[in-house]
Amino acid sequence: MTISAQGRNRLKEVARDLTKLVDCEKKQPGRIFTFAELEDDSIEVTDLLAQMLMEERLAQQFSVPEPSVCCPKCQSQIPRDVDEPRAMQTDRGEVTWTEPTYECSTCRRAFFPGELSVGDRS
Ligand SMILES: [Zn+2]
Repeated sequence: MTISAQGRNRLKEVARDLTKLVDCEKKQPGRIFTFAELEDDSIEVTDLLAQMLMEERLAQQFSVPEPSVCCPKCQSQIPRDVDEPRAMQTDRGEVTWTEPTYECSTCRRAFFPGELSVGDRS
């Protein structure tokens, strides 16, 4: 992904907002922070932001689940079953989301269709 100039400008606005948020959280107005402190704070905020961004995108992806999908094993049309809570440890921290499942009675197996593109299910 290449972020456009417009997107970068928007991110700069977000960075300014996050600066205000961090200053408010630190509760040390006027203090001069070391570079290491600035880096640590930035990493803490952006790790959390990255987790939230992934969770938001996953939630959007599964916000309108298909009522049925094609079984990846036998190609039968299989109905939506219960939604399952999911979690994955990423480089930026744990990401959690809820994903629809689909149960194939022929293969006697449940599938997470989103996981075909997200991860490691076989
Ligand atoms: Zn099947």
